[in-house]
Amino acid sequence: MRVLVIGRGGREHAIVWALSKSPKISKLFCAPGNGGIAGLAECVPITELQFDEISTFAKEQAIDLVMVAPDDPLAAGLVDHLESKGIEAFGPRANAAIIEGSKVFMKQLLKKYSIPTAAYESFDAYEPALAYLRSQTAPIVIKADGLAAGKGVTVAQTMEEAEAALKDIMVGQVFGASAGASVVIEEFLTGQEMSLLAFVDGSTVRLMVPSQDHKPVFDNDKGPNTGGMGTYSPLPHIPESIVQEALVNIVQPTADAMVAEGRPFKGVLYAGLILTPNGVKTIEFNARFGDPETQVILPRLKTDLLDIFLAINNGTLAEQPIEWSEQAAVCVIVASPGYPGPYPKGLPITGLDQVQDALVFHAGTAVDENGQIVTNGGRVLGITGLGKDIVEARQKAYADADRIHFEGKHYRTDIAMKALR
Ligand code: AMP
Repeated sequence: MRVLVIGRGGREHAIVWALSKSPKISKLFCAPGNGGIAGLAECVPITELQFDEISTFAKEQAIDLVMVAPDDPLAAGLVDHLESKGIEAFGPRANAAIIEGSKVFMKQLLKKYSIPTAAYESFDAYEPALAYLRSQTAPIVIKADGLAAGKGVTVAQTMEEAEAALKDIMVGQVFGASAGASVVIEEFLTGQEMSLLAFVDGSTVRLMVPSQDHKPVFDNDKGPNTGGMGTYSPLPHIPESIVQEALVNIVQPTADAMVAEGRPFKGVLYAGLILTPNGVKTIEFNARFGDPETQVILPRLKTDLLDIFLAINNGTLAEQPIEWSEQAAVCVIVASPGYPGPYPKGLPITGLDQVQDALVFHAGTAVDENGQIVTNGGRVLGITGLGKDIVEARQKAYADADRIHFEGKHYRTDIAMKALR
């Protein structure tokens, strides 16, 4: 088969890496890809929202399957576009990707089907939203309705912060007019977070191994939120009964609800969960693989990823064998100086050839005119160590993170420590 993956981050590098092991694939492309993906797939200079260019390329190259990895093209209907051209695509259609694309939709769905989530109200005008907010107490959570590159959520510790966030979203439209046209104002929940991703073919749900992300930029969860500074899997401190509770009370009922709504979800459904004293509750749903969760999940997958994608598209996921390795995986994100604020690009990266044990997934890299790999994004590399347990996987990830250099690089030193404390 000839397969095209859409996207350019560490997640896409991990997906391309997993697909590159499939004996059924004769040729892999990635659009647009990055400096690391270029070693495994032919990178094509077409970006994620260039729908016509993507379908024309897929036709010209006789692509058998287009795997759409990121949220933006899914929400904008790339899968629908490809299907309308007779091209097979993997990922939810726009009417199902809305579970990530609109937080108001997601919250209403969960409320309608009594699926556990934080209490909330939603508003499509500023004045009533502000009046409601003023009737509440901090801490409180303010969320822009639409996609905001992972930055649309403010966990406000004070009412001043909450009011400022609301104003930024609805009046300042800092995430754009559309993403900020509605807001969700939500109860603040506390507890450990868990990312539970699942393969879903409509009504069949097959959980992947659980993982945990680290959103704040600095150790001990200090500093502003990022796209994610590291992940690990499994979660030895979280009992399997909690994972089963999440499947039975949240993930399966959500897939069923989407079917009942006439929006069957086919693809990767990502539940962001919080383990509260009152049970597991939903924080968010994404309509795709997580980044950097994918960088610890796919290295533990023993089954051919292509077989799973095809089973989802054929509606045969229930019969598809899916095997996971017992190994632990820890991914440490190495970021650009200044990230998540403004950062320079084009810094030369050295030491990639010194890496010993870990998998190196490129997130924001490019190859410059001299063939040198340089930084090209905030999150630059994800270094995934594998080992018999979290301790060994951490050691391997950090040993190799230290072998790679660029000016001002930084990473958290406490990834996966929650599992060990
Ligand atoms: P999201 O973009 O929805 O994943 O939110 C980003 C982060 O904000 C989450 O990973 C949580 O740490 C935090 N968060 C979101 N909603 C809540 C909530 N209701 N209570 C506490 N923290 C939250």
